[in-house]
Amino acid sequence: MKERTLVQPCSFEGKGLHTGKVARMTISPAAEGSGIRFLRSDLGPDAFVDALAVNVSNTARSTTLTQNGVNVITVEHILSALTGLGIDNALISLDNEEIPILDGSAKPYCEAIVKGGIATQNAERKYIELSREIVYEDAVKGIKVTVTPTEKEPSYAIHVDFGSQVVGIQDASWTPSLDYAKEIAPCRTFVFFHEIEYLYKNNLIKGGDIDNAIVIVEHPVPRERVEALCQGLSIPVPAYTGVGYLDNMALRFENECARHKMLDLLGDLRLCGGFLKAEVKAVKTGHFVNSQVARMILENKK
Ligand SMILES: [Zn+2]
Repeated sequence: MKERTLVQPCSFEGKGLHTGKVARMTISPAAEGSGIRFLRSDLGPDAFVDALAVNVSNTARSTTLTQNGVNVITVEHILSALTGLGIDNALISLDNEEIPILDGSAKPYCEAIVKGGIATQNAERKYIELSREIVYEDAVKGIKVTVTPTEKEPSYAIHVDFGSQVVGIQDASWTPSLDYAKEIAPCRTFVFFHEIEYLYKNNLIKGGDIDNAIVIVEHPVPRERVEALCQGLSIPVPAYTGVGYLDNMALRFENECARHKMLDLLGDLRLCGGFLKAEVKAVKTGHFVNSQVARMILENKK
């Protein structure tokens, strides 16, 4: 397998989910062996942030990278898109601190990159190979991630259980021979209504209008509370506001939540610096655990 990059730059503009700040982002082709780097163009020509787990500085609700005091917030969806599309090298320049969330999935990124074209480079891809199996376990929380070296095609499996009667227990899997753009990229981020209410009251969800997240109502809430929140966020009140998925949008897959967790996992694990030659099994994982695992991979690669 040869390394790959984009044929031409593609640009996006939009709000960050957590900061609400509008950023213009351009993903450009990059040289063989350069990997994925971010550039905060608003801070100067050298404000680079390498997409590596050693730079993870925050994992509360999304993954933030910091290098030499330069931040890039919510990196996981664009890193997932580049990984799913098999892109080795890219420069992601950004004129603010948070990646545009767009529709909460990786679909807009994928569509633009595929439309612009993917170029095969001359260098042979060097996969990240492990010297041993990696296991991250938190028995109290029921979290477990294993990364096992394989000579076969890399594979990923994820199991989610939020103790939610709406979401239920879900599984998702992916291998590079499956069509990422079709199977994983369209799956949007999701949030529980009681969490949005909390985030909104604590001023933590400035950019998050409900257009870019699936909203799950786990516990019955009076309609007035939904109306008050929607008014606060300047969005239309959904017709159905009972227990279940708020009917502001139809689910794209019955297990869209698990598939989105797969999207996040692929993005966060890309912080190991390349394409893994391993079998990954993840149970109840999230950004903190994913980035810890990516760090363990960096420390144990051959
Ligand atoms: Zn996500």
